[in-house]
Amino acid sequence: MNQLPAGPSPEKPEQPALFDWGDTVPATPPDGGGFRDSPRARRMLDVREVYAEPAALASPRGQQILARLPGVPVTEVPGHWRIPSLHGNDGNIARWTRIKSEILVLGVKQTLTTRPNGRSADWIAPGASNGCAMACAYCYVPRRKGYANPITLFTNIEAIVTHVRRHVWAQGRKREPNQCDPHSWVYDIGENGDCSVDALICDNTADLITAFRALPTAKASFATKFVNPDLLTLDPQGRTRVRFSVMPTNDSRLLDIRTSPVADRIAAAADFLDAGYEVHFNLSPVVLRPGWQRDWADLLVHLDDVLPHRVKEQSAAEIIMLTHNQQLHEVNLGWHPKAEDVLWQPAAQETKRSENGALNVRYAREVKHEALARLQELIAAHAPWLRIRYAF
Ligand code: SF4
Repeated sequence: MNQLPAGPSPEKPEQPALFDWGDTVPATPPDGGGFRDSPRARRMLDVREVYAEPAALASPRGQQILARLPGVPVTEVPGHWRIPSLHGNDGNIARWTRIKSEILVLGVKQTLTTRPNGRSADWIAPGASNGCAMACAYCYVPRRKGYANPITLFTNIEAIVTHVRRHVWAQGRKREPNQCDPHSWVYDIGENGDCSVDALICDNTADLITAFRALPTAKASFATKFVNPDLLTLDPQGRTRVRFSVMPTNDSRLLDIRTSPVADRIAAAADFLDAGYEVHFNLSPVVLRPGWQRDWADLLVHLDDVLPHRVKEQSAAEIIMLTHNQQLHEVNLGWHPKAEDVLWQPAAQETKRSENGALNVRYAREVKHEALARLQELIAAHAPWLRIRYAF
């Protein structure tokens, strides 16, 4: 594997506040648009160039997206998977976050399959996007496209919704409660992106939430690190679970590049609950470094202090320990080496080669076991109402 070129850090990793929380719920600009038309939303996604498959361009969803991007140049590409100027890592590190915020890819999802999961969700639905405008240093989502991976929106949303609906109907009722949900089949709809950011530029997230509203045996679920107040208007009627990912502020400032501040994600919980969502939390990823126990305790105390009772009583959490990857480690050294000071800890981690040949890194069994036990003690002490659905 080639070592990536060192050199000046072209993009200074930082976490500017996207908004003051008081500005955002619900934020309807004077022009009558939603939050997605606001200058604050454009700080996250300011599309200057579109790459599109011809079929995606011709589709109603593709046309709808382009109508919102007047004057933005469009380059036709034969497929969304391999766009040499975007994908891959060499040469793109210098314009890493710019690619993510300024470029959009439109494609057609060819293979629609729903996979069993059994941990976070019962099923992983075919996602309506791949890639993300945020740039978390530990993100595994872009692993197949290279790490400068902007959002690809799949425009055949009707086919995706139809597939999911049929899958739900085929399951019948859920007969046994499990860690995913006691009553409903849970479908993760955002495995390879962030549905809240996708909703800044298209209605795919809205369409999925609307579809699940009419599926009484199932529930959509997605994790997010971005607070998009437009989602508050979608009326999910309890059939969508939003999982706000949280981690200590010190970790988030270093690792969660371009996301909403953790305090804003927590502050949004009650609004999302009142708007009809089920609200859970992902305690993830848990990064072990000096002081992690103190900082996680502070985070749990904060959750206990600020969340109203109605959020706590319906809430649950997943704990996900950091997994990392040697290729991502080498990429990060080229743009955000400070992140690797905490992510790459060979003395505490062990490697495993995955099926696709990547060298994955995770905390050694004993290290992980002890850390999980300690975190669960901290939860019991500071946020005993927080039911842990699973720890991984
Ligand atoms: S928000 Fe999620 S999908 Fe986006 S970069 Fe971060 S971890 Fe990846």
